[in-house]
Amino acid sequence: MTRILVTGGAGFIGSHLVEYLLKQGHEVISLDNYFTGTKENLRPLMALSNLELIRHDVVNPIMLEIDQVYHLACPASPVHYQYNPVKTIKTNVMGTLNMLGLAKRVKARILLASTSEIYGDPQVHPQREDYWGNVNCLGPRSCYDEGKRVAETLMMDYHRQNGVDIRIARIFNTYGPRMAINDGRVVSNFCVQALTGQDITIYGEGSQTRSFCFVTDLVEGLVRLMNREAQGPVNLGNPEEYTILELAQGRPWDEILGLSYRLNGRIHHNADRPYVEDLDALPFVTDVYHRDLRIENYKIPYLRYPYLSIYTGRGCPHHCVYCLWPQTFTGRRYRVRSVANVVTEVRRALELFPQTAEIFFDDDTFTAYPERAQEMARALAPLKCTWSATGRVNTSYETLKAMKEGGLRLLVVGFESGDPQVLKNIKKGTTPELGLRFMRWCKELGITVHGTFMVGLPGESLASIEASIRFACKLDPDTIQVSLASPYPGTEFYDFCREQGYMADQTLVHGATGYQQCVVDYPGLASEDIFKAVSRFYRRFYFRPQALARITWSMIKDPVERRRFLQTGQEFLTFLFRRRQGKEEARSLGSNCP
Ligand code: SF4
Repeated sequence: MTRILVTGGAGFIGSHLVEYLLKQGHEVISLDNYFTGTKENLRPLMALSNLELIRHDVVNPIMLEIDQVYHLACPASPVHYQYNPVKTIKTNVMGTLNMLGLAKRVKARILLASTSEIYGDPQVHPQREDYWGNVNCLGPRSCYDEGKRVAETLMMDYHRQNGVDIRIARIFNTYGPRMAINDGRVVSNFCVQALTGQDITIYGEGSQTRSFCFVTDLVEGLVRLMNREAQGPVNLGNPEEYTILELAQGRPWDEILGLSYRLNGRIHHNADRPYVEDLDALPFVTDVYHRDLRIENYKIPYLRYPYLSIYTGRGCPHHCVYCLWPQTFTGRRYRVRSVANVVTEVRRALELFPQTAEIFFDDDTFTAYPERAQEMARALAPLKCTWSATGRVNTSYETLKAMKEGGLRLLVVGFESGDPQVLKNIKKGTTPELGLRFMRWCKELGITVHGTFMVGLPGESLASIEASIRFACKLDPDTIQVSLASPYPGTEFYDFCREQGYMADQTLVHGATGYQQCVVDYPGLASEDIFKAVSRFYRRFYFRPQALARITWSMIKDPVERRRFLQTGQEFLTFLFRRRQGKEEARSLGSNCP
C-alpha cells in the first residue's frame, strides 16, 4: 500500500482522484483549504479508514510521511483565480515550493497538475508538449498561466538540482460530475444555459476551439503518468475537436467538417470529418462499461450471457449494396487496433467483469484481414477466454482453424440469399457454394454459426425467397436471423430503389413496435409478400426435425442453454405475434405500406 498526498483533494478533479486511489487500496491524505473545494465532494468516502482529511493551505509548509504527492491545489476557473490574483500566483509558486521541499525531504515522487493555459494564446494547433507557447505575463489571466509556468520551472529545477522524482501533467478542459455550477468555463456555462432555457453564450468571435476530457479519463491519465518512468510534461486531454462543439462556439456552419444542415429549405453537406486513424489512441470502452453499465442488463440470444462487446477495428472493405455501416458511417477501409492493444483490453475486461461468459468482437467484418485474425487468435489463446466475432463465408479453413484454437466459439456470418443472381446483384462477392463449404468447415471445426439472411433484395422473387429458405435449411447453421432488406438513405440500395420507383414507403421502422417494415415493392413481388416471407422463413427453418432435435439436445445437456432457449423461444413467438400486430396497426392507421 502506498501513502499518497493529494493537494486540492476536495476539489472537482482532486476528489475524483482521491476516490480512484482509495479504490486501488492506497492510504490517501487529502489536503485542502476549501477555498474552491468542498467536503461534500468527499462525503461518500469519509467512512473509509484509509482516507485522512487535513485542512491546510499549501502556501504554508507541512511535514508528512508520504510516498507520492499529486499536487493539484490551485483555483482553476477564471472566476476563482481572478478573484484574488495575488493569492493565485502565491499558491502556484509558494505552494509548489513547499510541496517540492516536502517531496525532497521524504524522497517522494511528485506530480504537478499543470495546465494547457501555459501555452497562452497558442498559434499552433494542436499543441505538442515541445511547443513553448504564445504567452503574456501582464494580462488578467497571467496570475494563473504564468504561475503554472513558474511551477513547472520549479519542478524541473528541483529535479535537475536535487534529483527530485517529478512528473508534470498539462491538463486540458475537463468535465464531469462535481464540477461547480458557477465554474464559469464553457461546459458548465453551456449546461446551465441549456437547462435554464437561455441562449448559449459565445465569447469573442467564436473562433476558439476546445477539446474536452471526461474527469475519470483524466484521473486515469494522471495515475498512469505518476506510475510510469517518463517525467513529462505530458498533455492530458482529448485530442479530438467535435462538430457540435464548433457549432456551439459559433463557427460558421459551412466551415464545420462533417456537418449537414438545412438552410433556406436546402440540405447542405459539408466535407466529411477525417476518420480517426490511430485507434489505439482511443480509450478502452470496457472502462466506460465498468463505470456506467451493468452488463447483466444486456442480452443477445445467440451470445452467451452475460457478454461484452468490443470493436477491434472500424470499416469494411466490401461493397454489399444494402449495408449501412461502411457506406454511411465506418468507411470502406478496415482501420484496426493493434493486436497488443486489443489483448490488453480483453485482459482488463476479464479483470473488471469476471462474470463475462463471452467477448464479442463486433467489427463490421472481423475476418477482413485474415492474417490479423489469426494473429489475434494466437494472442488471445493464453487468456483462455471464450470469444465470438463477425466473419464472411469466404474465410479460409486455415483462418477458421486458427481462430477456433484461439478460443473462438461462434461466428456471425451473412449468407443473405441462396440465389446466385441475387448475391451478384447485391455485390456480396460470395456464392451459395462458398456458403456450403464454409458451413462444412465450421461444423468440422466445432464453430457455432449464427447465419443472417435477407428477403427483399434487388432481383428478389418468390422463387428466390424459396431458394433462400431451402439454402438455409441445407446449410443448417445453429441459429439464424432473417431481416427485411431495408433501403437506408446513403446506401447504393436506396439509390437503386429510388431510381427504379421501388420505394413504397419511407418509414423503415414501425413507430410503435420498433419492428422493421417492408418498404420495397417490386414488380411481381409485393411488399406484403416480402413481409410475410420473414415469418415463413423462420418457421420453416426452426420447425424442422433436425433443428428441433439439436435445440432439444442442447437443452438436455446444458441447463444454461435450456434457460436461454426457453427464453429465446418465448421472445421469438412474441416477435412473430407483435410483428403481425404492428402490421395490422400500420394498416389501420393508413400507412402506405400495404
Ligand atoms: S461484408 Fe458485411 S459489413 Fe462488409 S459491406 Fe458486406 S454486409 Fe457490410
